[in-house]
Amino acid sequence: MIPYGRQEITQADIEAVVDVLRSDFLTQGPVVPRFERELARRCGAAHALAVNSATSALHIACLALGLGTGDILWTSPITFLASANCALYCGAQVDFVDIDPRTYNMSAQALEAKLEKAAREGRLPKVVVPVHLAGQACDMRAIHALSQRYGFRIIEDASHAIGGRYLGQPVGSCSFSDITVFSFHPVKIITTAEGGVALTNSPELARKLDLLRSHGMTRDPALMSHAPDGPWYYQQVALGFNYRMTELQAALGLSQLERLERYVSRRHELAAQYERELAGLPITLPWQHPDTYSAFHLYVVRLQRERIRASHKEVFEALREHGIGVNVHYIPVHTQPWYAAMGFRPGDYPEAERYYREAISLPMYPTLGEAELVRVCTALREAVCA
Ligand SMILES: *Cc1c(COP(=O)(O)O)cnc(C)c1O
Repeated sequence: MIPYGRQEITQADIEAVVDVLRSDFLTQGPVVPRFERELARRCGAAHALAVNSATSALHIACLALGLGTGDILWTSPITFLASANCALYCGAQVDFVDIDPRTYNMSAQALEAKLEKAAREGRLPKVVVPVHLAGQACDMRAIHALSQRYGFRIIEDASHAIGGRYLGQPVGSCSFSDITVFSFHPVKIITTAEGGVALTNSPELARKLDLLRSHGMTRDPALMSHAPDGPWYYQQVALGFNYRMTELQAALGLSQLERLERYVSRRHELAAQYERELAGLPITLPWQHPDTYSAFHLYVVRLQRERIRASHKEVFEALREHGIGVNVHYIPVHTQPWYAAMGFRPGDYPEAERYYREAISLPMYPTLGEAELVRVCTALREAVCA
């Protein structure tokens, strides 16, 4: 089976992890801070806080921004569950903004219209989570301008987008947001097995994120309610979690990070090859906004249903029968039973739902070979032209 995405593990990665296994620290040693400094440097952000998943990063990002009961978080319906669930963890409510029909990211126009209405009704969001779907950045300039007007905070869910750029700057610079989150799950651009990071330019948010990822405890006397009882003393100053990244994971991440640019440019080569191979078929290829340089985590095509005899499901199944591990990213979150129980209904976000009826993610990862890519395209051509 050709998967839709997969990691590459090199001998150097293995040696980096083995070195940590032979060292004094498996967790809370020097490698996690080194990984964080390297992430912050590459992204041009002031602070990076590594954690055990992007889901954890989203959770503590929401808490650091003060999201709680009575507050509302808005995100895109076309995302992984975690972009919305993070609000529910905090006791807040979730609402969605429909997608742009060309980029499939949260539509800045739909956001503006929904904000106008919410302002009239006194139901403005506290936090908005734009998701950089497939690795292509959202219209962050517009979303940031709206945050200034309506007073919400921004967490970029950039789980797909490390190595991507927006207006020439690396995604993760937080130029248009409070916090940016990356995922290092094995299907993402680089991996630490499980893992994630939150980046920010705010020292205050960095301090909160640091506390929240490790039990809310501190050894810094400046943060304590009274002077330390002695050199052993730590104090709990917030209710935090154990969301720490291990030294093993950080060693793998540091080693992978050296190949980040190569990975993303390889993904662009594959996208260009797909574009050549798939030209003229009744499918819509990923459109690239000129402000962006995508990390191309995913290569999503949309079936032009009125020009194809087979159904979406039939095309999907035909590809799977040819040993091609296609996937669908994503099932609109508001249609999940968990969200339907909150009152969301089919028809609430028509662009997202239309996208879901047409989208298929083709294999996309740096070690995908040209011959395999041609096999994918041949199978897809047969399925949509039958
Ligand atoms: C993968 C992913 C997450 C969650 O990442 P984990 O590291 O697996 O917790 C969140 N949001 C999006 C958009 C993702 O693709």
